[in-house]
Amino acid sequence: MSTDDLACPQCSLTETHLLGSNHVCDTCGHEWPAEVAEERSGEEAVRDANGVILASGDTVTVIKDLKVKGSLTVLKVGTKLKNIRIGSGDHAVDAGGFMLKAEFLRKS
Ligand SMILES: [Zn+2]
Repeated sequence: MSTDDLACPQCSLTETHLLGSNHVCDTCGHEWPAEVAEERSGEEAVRDANGVILASGDTVTVIKDLKVKGSLTVLKVGTKLKNIRIGSGDHAVDAGGFMLKAEFLRKS
């Protein structure tokens, strides 16, 4: 799905484009964060820090120290995570029970 098809939540027209991490409506000028829109569609590909699409079973490398949501564990930069699973939402990457943001990972 291309971002061009994305409807503006304000005026519901689809003349929108991506500006940095925001979607911008060409019609009414409304701006909204890209992350929210992707969560809504539910079908967006999960991409790593380089924009590479991640799939279940991939191996990824952590590109910055990450606090794991809901635990005291910190994943150090350079840590390799094998056999990830792709879910949805903000923390779409499941690495052995750790829910991580794809933007802090790089496909190995
Ligand atoms: Zn609009």
